Amino acid sequence: MMIRFTILPFLLALNFSMCSRHPSPVTSSESATPSPSAAASAAPGGSPAAGVAGARPSPSKITKAVVDQTAQTIIFCYHRLVDKVRYPGTEITPADFEAQMKQLKDSGITVISMQDLLAWKRGEKNIPPRCAVITFDDGWKSQYDVGWPIMKKFGYPFTMFIYTEGVRGGSLGGGEAITWEQLSDMRDNGIDIEAHTATHQDLREGHNIMLAAPGGKRTKTKLTGPAYEQWVRNEVVGCKELLEQRLGIKVNCFAVPFGNYNEHVKELARSAGYEAMFTVYGQPITFTSPLDSLGRYAIEANKPKVFVDAVKMIGTSSGGASAVAEVGAANLSTQPADGETVRTALPLIKANLTRIGAIEPDSVQMRVSGLGVVPVSYDPKTGTASYQVTQKLRGTSCTVILSAKSEGKKVEAHWTFGIDAAAAGGPTPAPAKPALTPKK
Ligand SMILES: [Zn+2]
Repeated sequence: MMIRFTILPFLLALNFSMCSRHPSPVTSSESATPSPSAAASAAPGGSPAAGVAGARPSPSKITKAVVDQTAQTIIFCYHRLVDKVRYPGTEITPADFEAQMKQLKDSGITVISMQDLLAWKRGEKNIPPRCAVITFDDGWKSQYDVGWPIMKKFGYPFTMFIYTEGVRGGSLGGGEAITWEQLSDMRDNGIDIEAHTATHQDLREGHNIMLAAPGGKRTKTKLTGPAYEQWVRNEVVGCKELLEQRLGIKVNCFAVPFGNYNEHVKELARSAGYEAMFTVYGQPITFTSPLDSLGRYAIEANKPKVFVDAVKMIGTSSGGASAVAEVGAANLSTQPADGETVRTALPLIKANLTRIGAIEPDSVQMRVSGLGVVPVSYDPKTGTASYQVTQKLRGTSCTVILSAKSEGKKVEAHWTFGIDAAAAGGPTPAPAKPALTPKK
């Protein structure tokens, strides 16, 4: 028990010195200075082959295939790995887990990282036609001791969804909980660590909430109004800040406990800077699946059919069907232009599609990073597609993906512009201290 406290200062020091070893740049999107080139280099796993927009003012029209929009991904959610299953709802034997990992391989399903999945959804990186993402929830020691070695054997990446009070030493972290040291070790080896609230409860207002008082005494209460707001903020935002500061990482994914949430929780998560939210209603993830409700298949020991069905769901996908032709953004006279830096977080985004040829008006679609699909308007007379941003863009760069059908063929343009955060009047930098004070 005492050890936990004595090594804490050491850990904190260690975290700072290890920041630079983290595979993804740890620059805060709020504090980074705006530069168009930063957008490309800051993309997670941003390989040059991925075809990231921004560094590519291609002068000639058309045709390089970008991302395969017909690809599909299934996301699995695992909990504890135990030899003797006592709680089949959240447990699985190591043997069964390993067999499932092998089956993915045997079925020709590629296990990709969560960050690659998100990069694909942003149109920045291609993924194979049939993919899976593996996630472990709650932060169990067995995920470190048992799950990780199996994943290493297959060379699979994975994501850990952590609720911070459940880490060893937290008010809910018992002997079977993962430790901060183990999480640091995983971080240093490229494992993706993401948020799963502070205390793992139903986040919707009006539900009974368990509060742990100092000294470990737990009470159940119904929080409303400002008291609820403060509590839920800590669950959604405080959890992210604690993970980011304790581990020196960037957290952009949020798994909702039990999949229970509502618009208010979603909005809170969005404004906290989460890029994606995850539930436990399994479904194949497609290019257009909304990022604020990505379903995962929760694998339970007594329901092996869930895994079998999930694999079947994308087993029949033909993959790589309709090719997409890429148009250089320069050909579309985009506004803002590719590589330009604007002085507002609410820009008007415009492109002229006349050079593509005959456009099917209903097929015009615009995606904006951080917003997803936006209600773009298209004027067939002028060939102009436009969207006035109404919700302040976060961060210092923004990627636009504009697609349309022309003569039955899908064409697409990507471009990235910078946002001068200072001139745009925000966003405000994150507070220096986490809102959460771990209860001892
Ligand atoms: Zn959970």
